[in-house]
Amino acid sequence: MSFFDLNITKILEDLNEENVAVADQLEQVATSTIQIQAPPRPKKCCKEGCKKKLMLSDFPCKCSQIFCSAHRMPEVHECSFDFKKAATDELKKRLGSAVIGKKVDTI
Ligand SMILES: [Zn+2]
Ligand SMILES: [Zn+2]
Repeated sequence: MSFFDLNITKILEDLNEENVAVADQLEQVATSTIQIQAPPRPKKCCKEGCKKKLMLSDFPCKCSQIFCSAHRMPEVHECSFDFKKAATDELKKRLGSAVIGKKVDTI
């Protein structure tokens, strides 16, 4: 075995060790990402007393609870999400960017 061969072997060994470390990190990242992406999804409607099973097409409300088609509307399930505040915030945001846009135009 020549000196050159020895060096290559050493480099490959080093690379392998690094790859293992990177793979470990990737696995950790992947695991934590999956946990964030898949919160426990309730099987039944979140409305108290309602035992209706949820369909896959049922999507969570803004209050992050999932309801059956009968209780999906915010006013039916006494939604805790503040729609008024959200609408006001959205309006403020739009007005804010409009004002900024005007300023930029004037300059
Ligand atoms: Zn329901
Ligand atoms: Zn809601």
